[in-house]
Amino acid sequence: MQMISLKKYLDSASAGSKALGITGEKDMLSATMAAYGSALLGMGSCSVDACPGLGVGLKQRFDELSSNLSREMSRESLATMDGDVKGSLEEWGRRTARHYRLKSNEVRELLIVMARTAEGVGQRDQRCAGQINEVTARLTAIVSLDDLTEIRASIESSAAELKTSIEKMTSEGKAAIDRLREQVSTYQAKLEEAEEVASRDALTGLRSRLFAESLIERQIIAGRQLCVAIIDIDAFKKVNDEHGHLTGDELLKLFATELVSACRSTDVIGRWGGDEFIILLDCGLAEASAQMDRLRKWICGNYTVRGKSGPEKLKVNASIGLAEHMPDESMKDILSRADAAMYENKAACRAAGASSGR
Ligand code: GH3
Ligand code: MG
Repeated sequence: MQMISLKKYLDSASAGSKALGITGEKDMLSATMAAYGSALLGMGSCSVDACPGLGVGLKQRFDELSSNLSREMSRESLATMDGDVKGSLEEWGRRTARHYRLKSNEVRELLIVMARTAEGVGQRDQRCAGQINEVTARLTAIVSLDDLTEIRASIESSAAELKTSIEKMTSEGKAAIDRLREQVSTYQAKLEEAEEVASRDALTGLRSRLFAESLIERQIIAGRQLCVAIIDIDAFKKVNDEHGHLTGDELLKLFATELVSACRSTDVIGRWGGDEFIILLDCGLAEASAQMDRLRKWICGNYTVRGKSGPEKLKVNASIGLAEHMPDESMKDILSRADAAMYENKAACRAAGASSGR
């Protein structure tokens, strides 16, 4: 401030003017004015460089004063201008200092927020907690630093460490998700396998009772056409009693194979239990009835089993009951009607056999 006081300069310069080769006071003044004007312009530009937000006003003021220099030549007006320059500079200095104090407080607040965020991340993921806690401590310590270069260096290294920790957490998290995904697909495959096993009858390979029941439910809910046929082998107990349980099993398997051969691809064939079978047909009663007539002819007759002393022929008859699903009827209802029809058929066959003397 001392160096650019024009008044002091003018007071002390008269003695040295001769040494500079300036003879008259007017020459002396205009040379000083030019130097002073150029100093003002320079200071204005520097103030914009130092703090763009606050320097523009000062630059404008100094530009104005500099252009006034050519007109205002009196000592009085120069003294006023000198005071103006001094005051403007002091004001700019105060405002700039306050501006940087506020900025540095903002940086400190930001650092505290960063430190808290890092702490939160560390608490969520215990694997990287140690590393992140170090970063948190460093960020908190930065708040008390005064040297901007130190602050910058510390922030840069903290940011780099945070990045590494987060990348590590991401890759470990991804590996854990991959492992979980693998486990889920293994369990899914096991579940599908278990479902397939549960949907099949172990002895015959036909659909299980469970599968048939759930399909009936689904067909009823979907409002699709459905006929249910129940087929029971007549006097099957006798086969077990006379030929043994294993032969009984063999006959059940052969009977199941014939059922499959006689049915259409759209029919669903299951083992209801013991010597009872079930067929689900997606058609009306007339078509299902015709299909059951064909089936009866196909499945009833002689079956060859491995007897105790070589192959043996067994004559097999079966009773069939058929029911078509009626509106609002439950699964239990249609099954009991089909079962009742099967028993009726069995009784009729027995009666016919008795009357024909068989
Ligand atoms: P009905 O003419 O009235 O049908 O009489 P049935 O002799 O066929 O006797 P019923 O249907 O009442 O009984 C079926 C028999 O089937 C009883 C049971 O011992 C036998 N059984 C049930 N499950 C199996 C099996 O998995 N294998 C064998 N070999 N026999 C079985
Ligand atoms: Mg039977």
